[in-house]
Amino acid sequence: MQKRKFWGWGIEGGGPSQEDIDQSISSVEKRLGTSLPRTAEPPKENELNLPSIRIKVPATLSAICRNSPWERAAHHYGASYRDVVRAFRREFPKPPDWVAYPQSEGDVSSILDWCGDNKVAAIPFGGGSSVVGGVEMPSLDSGNYEGAISIDLSNLRKVMEIDKTSRAARIQAGILGPDLENQLRPHGLTLRHFPQSFEFSSLGGWIATRSGGHFATVYTHIEDLVESIRAVTPSGILESRRLPGSGAGPSPDRMLAGSEGILGIITEAWMRLQDRPKFRASAAVLFPEPNGFLKGAEAVREVSQSMLFPTNCRILDKTEAFNNGVGNGDSAVLILGFESADHPTDKILERGIEICRGAGGTIPDNQINSQSGESSSVNREGAAGAWRKAFIEMPYIRDALVGHSVVVDTFETCITWDKFPSFHKNVTAAVEKALQEICGSGSVSCRFTHVYPDGPAPYYSITAPGIFGSELEQWDEIKAAAADIVISEGGTITHHHAVGRDHRPWYDQQRPDIFADALRAAKQNIDPGAILNPGVLLDP
Ligand SMILES: Cc1cc2nc3c(=O)[nH]c(=O)nc-3n(C[C@H](O)[C@H](O)[C@H](O)COP(=O)(O)OP(=O)(O)OC[C@H]3O[C@@H](n4cnc5c(N)ncnc54)[C@H](O)[C@@H]3O)c2cc1C
Repeated sequence: MQKRKFWGWGIEGGGPSQEDIDQSISSVEKRLGTSLPRTAEPPKENELNLPSIRIKVPATLSAICRNSPWERAAHHYGASYRDVVRAFRREFPKPPDWVAYPQSEGDVSSILDWCGDNKVAAIPFGGGSSVVGGVEMPSLDSGNYEGAISIDLSNLRKVMEIDKTSRAARIQAGILGPDLENQLRPHGLTLRHFPQSFEFSSLGGWIATRSGGHFATVYTHIEDLVESIRAVTPSGILESRRLPGSGAGPSPDRMLAGSEGILGIITEAWMRLQDRPKFRASAAVLFPEPNGFLKGAEAVREVSQSMLFPTNCRILDKTEAFNNGVGNGDSAVLILGFESADHPTDKILERGIEICRGAGGTIPDNQINSQSGESSSVNREGAAGAWRKAFIEMPYIRDALVGHSVVVDTFETCITWDKFPSFHKNVTAAVEKALQEICGSGSVSCRFTHVYPDGPAPYYSITAPGIFGSELEQWDEIKAAAADIVISEGGTITHHHAVGRDHRPWYDQQRPDIFADALRAAKQNIDPGAILNPGVLLDP
């Protein structure tokens, strides 16, 4: 069986070839104008020196609980830059005492009962791809808890039932993306939810964090694909009624979506499915600098308001385009794509292209692709294909850059179109200033991950040379500068990465006080012992 890395992204021995990694590192060296010698090696299992275990699990749970150093270390962190740096430093100060692998919903209930009776913090763990400290154990110094347990849902991984007529399925929450799609494929169906972390993230994690899929418009947010949710809470089972829509008061599903494990453990959900797409068409549109990115953003706004609903409508600034192998660094590139299970999409693409040309875009002849058939490779060729490859390899490359002391991370937000130009200018300027002051140099680039008729979700990537041993402190300062400017300019602290523990200070600023009180009251009622994911969304 393939073994996940306990310190970073992916499977041991998996990911891009060493040659590809070396090439990426040398292109970052060129970009930053400095050499990046290797400063650290990933930790090895035999180097783990973990604090001792504070609690015993009862005999009734021992068959589903494990506590080997690997298990505890692999459930210590999520998968953020900050997590990988701490792992490279061999810092694992507060691992879970135990990792539980429930085999059934009954097991989940038993674990929560035991946690409640023994003041043990219970941290739900799906794929562990959180980039916001969502799966970390709380600090136990406060004396509020006797210990902590990570509840890994990976054994709940079946598509239980398919309703072909309504095109929906009942699916267990611990299933990871590839397994989920593999179980739906023989039925000609797909959930079609593809976050960049697809390979190692779970349905329950997606719902708990309100994740955003790879597609740019409509049917891309997990909560829009949810028909009903079933969760185990410390107060019993919370299950919503399976309905295509309902106006019966505030939605119970919407309460659980985005609850980040503080109200209950999602065990299964009925999900809306789609037929597998057969027709695809895409184009890469160039917007030469200067002003290419803002002109391209204008084109995206027009497309987003045209009701064409592209599956892909991703403007990359010239640096993003170059870094992802879809441009030569002179132009912003807009990747525009459409797909359908029902009808050819060429005509819709033509109209999208017309809009882009009207906004000043140009299209090289070889950058329009159209194909039909389920195995169509239109997304694997040309600019779209280069983009896809870079997208999948990114987390592996990021981990390799950590070993060269590069500060490399992303932050994402959302803002209305009227504010976007000044927002983008001020965010970029503030982060560039922070990189100069903190790292001496560095680059900020931007792309849109999702677009709405009323605004885009800009996604910023930063790369800077760090100082070996000080990368975390440098990152902290840069992150704070970025988050401060995002909030002061009217954006959200997160569009799809969630709040976790890391975004709390800024989430608290943007969350209305009365809503915070209501959430606290809900938490107090549902989880009176405050065992579930303490510190996430609310203070313990
Ligand atoms: C390289 C990379 C790329 C990413 N790309 C995207 C992206 O494109 N779109 C996006 O939205 N996010 C992205 N993320 C962030 C992350 O993948 C998402 O937040 C994802 O939804 C987390 O799913 P998971 O199963 O890994 O959850 P985990 O990381 O295991 O947990 C996340 C949170 O949900 C809680 N939780 C997990 N399972 C359950 C459950 N069954 N019931 C209750 N609570 C639960 C956890 O306690 C935690 O608070 C990315 C992360 C990485 C590292």
